[in-house]
Amino acid sequence: MVQSSVLGFPRIGGNRELKKVTEAYWSGKVSEDELLRVGKEIREHNWRLQQDAGVDIIPSNDFSYYDQVLDLSLLFNVIPDQYAQHDLSEIDTLFAMGRGLQRGESEGVAAVDVTALEMVKWFDSNYHYVRPTFSNSTEFRLNGQKPVDEYLEAKELGIETRPVLLGPVSFLHLGKAERESADLDLISLLPNLLQVYVELLQKLAEAGVESVQLDEPVLVLDLPENVQDAYKTAYEAFSNEEGLPKIILTTYFGTVTPNLRAIENLPVDGFHFDFVRNPEQFEEVVDLLNENQTLSVGIVDGRNIWKNDFAKSSEFVRKAIDQLGEDRVIVSTSSSLLHTPVDLENERKLDDEVKDWFSFAAQKLNEVVIIAKNVSGEDVSEELESNAASIAARAASSITHDPSVQERIGQLNQATSTRSSPFEDRLAKQQESLNLPLLPTTTIGSFPQTKDIRVNRNKFNKGEISAEEYENFINSEIEKVIRFQEEVGLDVLVHGEPERNDMVQYFAEKINGYVFTTNAWVQSYGSRYVRPPIIVGDLSRPEAMSVKETVYAQSITTKPVKGILTGPVTCLRWSFPRNDIDQKIQALQLALAIRDEVTDLEAAGIKVIQVDEPALREGLPLRDGQERADYFNWAAEAFRVATSGVSDQTQIHSHFCYSDFDPNHVRALDADVVSIEFSKKDDPNYIAQFQSYPNHIGLGLFDIHSPRVPPKEEFIEKIGTILGSYPPEKFWINPDCGLKTRGWDETSASLHNMVEAAKHFREHY
Ligand code: GLN
Ligand code: ZN
Repeated sequence: MVQSSVLGFPRIGGNRELKKVTEAYWSGKVSEDELLRVGKEIREHNWRLQQDAGVDIIPSNDFSYYDQVLDLSLLFNVIPDQYAQHDLSEIDTLFAMGRGLQRGESEGVAAVDVTALEMVKWFDSNYHYVRPTFSNSTEFRLNGQKPVDEYLEAKELGIETRPVLLGPVSFLHLGKAERESADLDLISLLPNLLQVYVELLQKLAEAGVESVQLDEPVLVLDLPENVQDAYKTAYEAFSNEEGLPKIILTTYFGTVTPNLRAIENLPVDGFHFDFVRNPEQFEEVVDLLNENQTLSVGIVDGRNIWKNDFAKSSEFVRKAIDQLGEDRVIVSTSSSLLHTPVDLENERKLDDEVKDWFSFAAQKLNEVVIIAKNVSGEDVSEELESNAASIAARAASSITHDPSVQERIGQLNQATSTRSSPFEDRLAKQQESLNLPLLPTTTIGSFPQTKDIRVNRNKFNKGEISAEEYENFINSEIEKVIRFQEEVGLDVLVHGEPERNDMVQYFAEKINGYVFTTNAWVQSYGSRYVRPPIIVGDLSRPEAMSVKETVYAQSITTKPVKGILTGPVTCLRWSFPRNDIDQKIQALQLALAIRDEVTDLEAAGIKVIQVDEPALREGLPLRDGQERADYFNWAAEAFRVATSGVSDQTQIHSHFCYSDFDPNHVRALDADVVSIEFSKKDDPNYIAQFQSYPNHIGLGLFDIHSPRVPPKEEFIEKIGTILGSYPPEKFWINPDCGLKTRGWDETSASLHNMVEAAKHFREHY
């Protein structure tokens, strides 16, 4: 009998219960007891759901109040000094490390002011984890026993679970050294770390745990030699201990083939691989197993929302059974289901035809169970038939296919993705029509999204105000932003984006081929969840999306107004993509939709158009090599398709943030001007890298995440440093990113100082 397993379940609750109670706790509205009670309730609900679905191997310790990696830092006492000094409770220490803590002195309790630890992307997902931060004085020891407690909690409910832990090599490799311990080699901490892992595994065994899932996802990255070697050290140490639980070494999000050496002959009881992302690794990893090891076949997608194709998956699992026998094969989700929305049943507004194509976390539980039953020879013919019908219906649906879009994709050629003249020629013509001063000043697009804006948008969505009233309101907001920019003396203005709820969703709602959910939230970090739109079919833009607002803004000022659009790669990355055609094709379809918009803006008299691509870098494949090169080629092509339909006179801008960008990748977009987040970069080489960048560039001069107002002198100093190694005629003056999360006071003061600093330099050249 083939068993079924799940690597992890979303912990946010079907109605975002965790977010609500956590935020209420943070603002002092509910007690710690209440927070813990809701957490317990969610865990019980998740376990019962899995038990009822018939899942054989159910995870525990996949729950977290903030982040599972942070939990482990706390559990192993990887707590930098600044958090350990204040006598905070366990959960408050967790939150202080995750999000910082600022608390005034009260009743003899001293004030606390600590910033959060660094948070970074979890591989190529939209989840972010808190980076374990080690130092020379890190002393591993067990702080509490969360995994044991949660195992026992499930056991009390009559549910046997398999605890999940990040494995020791990944825990170290995903971490970093504190600044004062910069020369610390993280892998050198392994022997000490292993001692606490062993202690924990012993406790789990004593509690009755039979097997544990140790996640080692870094095995899908390019690993230095010493990290590869660490696997042997770590897992041999475990197997040398008597009586520990069985260990399933778990990988996901890619292929382990370049690191086979690291896991060859490892004395573990089984391996898990992600065959959704990389079915090609099958032969090589199966060859690796010795005759006692099990293979957990990750075949139900933990990263997307599409119904599994049972026939195809069963065939794949049968391949494994043929080689290993039923007892050594487990059917599993490809990764934790943390990255999928909780339950499709909570979607009441989705069109039935489309809804039948989806499977969220709760539905995926049934999928692993049915596939396991099917390959074990149980009769699941009814489920197979209805599954085959859904798959066929989606493949044949007119929602999925739009022949006119496919035809346009077929017609793309070199000319569609190339501007008609080289940059220097374009620049001369643009300069003639725009007549900008040296060191032109601009912003990235959004201005403060005030409460008033949100209230009016809600009223409009609920039908409480008419379309006309809403339009008047938006126009008055635009006018306010235009007048402000004129007064402060900016050179290239923006309309301020007051009509946009979100930079992707706003456009997706106007593009055919997208659908939207009402409750399909996915954790991004801590209590922040996102609800990505879903790409279901070929994408096209039936009518203009942004022309009205941009043209209105331009009509009330003589200064140039920059039209702002979201780029094709960012629209793709921040959506659930289709799994039936290449991401490249989806990016090109989006590119054509945006190209139509760019052309319409130009025809309506807009002379500067910015196409934002903040997610360009995050789509980067995890490993170096051909796949990365291919990605950058098609990502750049998509951007150029979107922006090459205009005349030389029209100035194309782009904007990037969130990560370091390689100038060569930016160069491939051939935008006339790019603005890049820069204010927090303390690496002087980062500027130098852009010295040979041929087009114009604006390096972000202030942090838009902070209310702090940099004084004029600070701007002058910063600009001065940059101009020390960068030609002034290529340089633009702008903030790091959009100002939507800021208040008006600081926005106004910061922009004023920024413009004054630009004027200071103009007088000197
Ligand atoms: N134009 C967008 C804004 O200003 C860009 C947002 C982003 O880069 N994340 O808000
Ligand atoms: Zn940005």
